[in-house]
Amino acid sequence: MVTIEEVWRFIEEVEDPEIPVLNVVEMGIVRDVRNTVEGTWEVVITPTYSGCPAMKAIEEDVLQCLADHHVAPVQVISQLSPPWTTDWMTEVAREKLRQTGIAPPEQGSADKGLLMGVRKDVKCPRCSSVQTTMVSQFGSTACKSLYKCNQCLEPFDYFKCI
Ligand SMILES: [Zn+2]
Repeated sequence: MVTIEEVWRFIEEVEDPEIPVLNVVEMGIVRDVRNTVEGTWEVVITPTYSGCPAMKAIEEDVLQCLADHHVAPVQVISQLSPPWTTDWMTEVAREKLRQTGIAPPEQGSADKGLLMGVRKDVKCPRCSSVQTTMVSQFGSTACKSLYKCNQCLEPFDYFKCI
C-alpha cells in the first residue's frame, strides 16, 4: 500500500508540458492527492490558464505515471476554483525558470497590469537588468511574453503572471 507522500513524489516525475524543466507539483498545478474510502486515488489539478490545451496532456501524463508505479485506481479531477495563480509556483520553480533563461513571474503581484498592456519592470534572467522591452505579448507559448534586454541585448521569455 503506497502512502500519500509516495504518490506526491511519483507525480513530481510529471513534467509541465509548457516548461519541461518544471514538474507539475512545482508549478502548483497539483492541488491535492487523496485516497477515498473506496480506495480510489484522487489527484486534483488546477489548469494554469483557462483553456490551456496542455491540461489534457497533464491529466494523461499523471495517469500514465501513476500506472507505471502500480497506483490504481486513479481519478484526475480538474478544479477550476480557486483559479491558479503564479503565486502557487514554488521558489525552486522560480529559480529553475531563471536558470533556463525565462524570467519568473514577479511574486505577490498578480500581473493584471501586464495583461492590460501596462508596462512594468521585468528583470533580465541573464544579467538582472530591468532595462528590458516587451517585444511581443506572446513568446514561445501563449503563457509567455517575449522580451528583449537592453543591457545584454538577449531576447528572453517572461512567464506572465495571472
Ligand atoms: Zn540582460
